[in-house]
Amino acid sequence: MFYDSHCHLDMLSKPELAQALTCAKKKGVGEMISCSTSFASNERNLEIATLHSEVKAALGLYPIDALGFNEEQLTRAFDFFKKNIARKEVAAVGEVGLDYKLCVNKEEQEKQVRLFRKFIALSNESKKPIVVHSRFAQRQALTILSEEGAKKVLLHSFTDSSKLMKQTLESNFFISVGMNLLRDEEVQKRIASFPLDHLLFETDSPIRFGEEKALPESVLLVAEKVAQLKNLPLAEAESAQEKNFRKLFGSK
Ligand SMILES: [Zn+2]
Repeated sequence: MFYDSHCHLDMLSKPELAQALTCAKKKGVGEMISCSTSFASNERNLEIATLHSEVKAALGLYPIDALGFNEEQLTRAFDFFKKNIARKEVAAVGEVGLDYKLCVNKEEQEKQVRLFRKFIALSNESKKPIVVHSRFAQRQALTILSEEGAKKVLLHSFTDSSKLMKQTLESNFFISVGMNLLRDEEVQKRIASFPLDHLLFETDSPIRFGEEKALPESVLLVAEKVAQLKNLPLAEAESAQEKNFRKLFGSK
């Protein structure tokens, strides 16, 4: 089986979702982690995961979305997360973290850091992994995860620097690689030398990469590319990824 460790099924319309799940099943995609961004997306992902056992929800706020929340709204959001995190439909905290590309103002960055620490605490207390987004703040994200003692970590699309990728191994974190692997030769080189036992596959679907709209079934293309780069049969990349997925997200 193949596993899409990071997608956004809440962004699909109902007919698109039905079609995506049918195709994913046909291609051998066993499970998908649908990450939340806005507050409404948390409710929708929970609803999808309740209806479809192959989908698990990750609860959280995308760092840019979180900036729009006032203190009262944040308190309400965290009450909701604490109330729902232990549910079996919920596999993780996510997509949370730091995004300094779209937030250059110091105050906003500090707010992101404060919330990131709260989400790490939620992950530690619930013993559910945290799916981390970090852009223009990858080093900072690793530092904060260490400071807060985060244990089960998946760094989403964390393929920009060999040095930082190596650093994640020292903390026993996992990284996920997505659709940019298909076209970006630098990412291909980094993945070729990254150990398979800390690697997961993702699509970030339905977010677009180039011309085509990715879907969870596209995770197969990522898996095939990883196998090719590592000179391995596809089945070997598949079983390593399955083992990693279970280690991080637990059994179904
Ligand atoms: Zn995402």
